[in-house]
Amino acid sequence: MNPANADLHCHSTVSDGLLAPAVIVERARANGVDLLALTDHDEIGGLDEAAAAAAVLGLRFIAGVEISVSWGDDQTVHIVGLNFDQRHPELVAGLARVRGGRDKRAGRMAEELAKVGIDGAYAGALKYVGNPALISRSHFARYIVERGFAPDVKTVFDHWLAKGKPGYVSHPWAELSEALGWIKAAGGIAVVAHPGRYRLTPAERRELFVAFKNLGGEGIEVVSGSSNDAEIREFAGIAREFGFLASRASDFHGPGESYIDLGRMAQLPPDLKPVWADWV
Ligand code: AMP
Ligand code: MN
Ligand code: MN
Ligand code: MN
Repeated sequence: MNPANADLHCHSTVSDGLLAPAVIVERARANGVDLLALTDHDEIGGLDEAAAAAAVLGLRFIAGVEISVSWGDDQTVHIVGLNFDQRHPELVAGLARVRGGRDKRAGRMAEELAKVGIDGAYAGALKYVGNPALISRSHFARYIVERGFAPDVKTVFDHWLAKGKPGYVSHPWAELSEALGWIKAAGGIAVVAHPGRYRLTPAERRELFVAFKNLGGEGIEVVSGSSNDAEIREFAGIAREFGFLASRASDFHGPGESYIDLGRMAQLPPDLKPVWADWV
């Protein structure tokens, strides 16, 4: 198949997105997307609703997930899994384990935020949570905006929630080998999400690509919602050098909270092999 507008990375209320899975699908369709994957953080509970909505609209829908991975010296990287068997027990159990630590982490984040004068953050964040198993920094950010401490979510991350800031709590996510193992066991393709967004030196970034490739990783988001032209050129070069499949991904979270809307990204450089090339 040869989609005109593939978007293989976005979020719903099942993780930290603002729209329900079916609403994401309708919005994607309205934006001209003809191949869509929903990739909630560590969670596949929205896939059935999204697939049903897509079937009604005749939109091609692919199972997806964005797995949180601990990497190197307390870094977090995100690995997207695509086109897998969402009932595969290894994947299901692995994701449940990664999600399992989030609530405790949220409690610790609230304690740290209270120390810098932001009280009630656990209960406050919960008001924005659509899925009790999936409380994330984004939900805290929305509460902190609501309290008037910052004008928008991005500013909240810059001041309180990014690594090194007072509300940041380091957390053990999945190992890279585990995330790839689960995705591959379930028959899926693993993709490095938004490779330009990690605070890694060029040498460290290359180490990540080497390790990912050695573990059987196949793809990289060459075009991501937040990427500029220079980054697209850089990661197209990485795809060519490593023989990675190329993905195209908005990372849409909701109106007003995302760099770009569903399906509105640049096209992939035409010489690259897209991740969807072999999907029939
Ligand atoms: P968590 O998985 O709970 O650590 O939350 C990670 C999520 O926070 C990401 O998927 C983004 O949605 C959001 N996020 C991380 N950094 C930023 C940032 N600088 N600005 C806005 N949102 C961010
Ligand atoms: Mn997110
Ligand atoms: Mn991500
Ligand atoms: Mn994402």
